[in-house]
Amino acid sequence: MTAEATFVCSRAGCDEIATSSVEWRNPRIHDESRVKVWLACDAHREYLRDYLASRDFPVTVRDGASMENAR
Ligand SMILES: [Zn+2]
Repeated sequence: MTAEATFVCSRAGCDEIATSSVEWRNPRIHDESRVKVWLACDAHREYLRDYLASRDFPVTVRDGASMENAR
């Protein structure tokens, strides 16, 4: 995976270019060191963040699509 790689939005049915990374964790099944990353286009950045936040998951949205923090 290179810096030039093109990422697509993680939202089901969306194939827009991702411009943000939504990093999150489910505290009930993931320990503190685990980070999941969804990628989001401009239209779904807020949608995905709100979806996770509504489930009380810790969520951080970063500019730029990257999977490098996923673990
Ligand atoms: Zn999208």
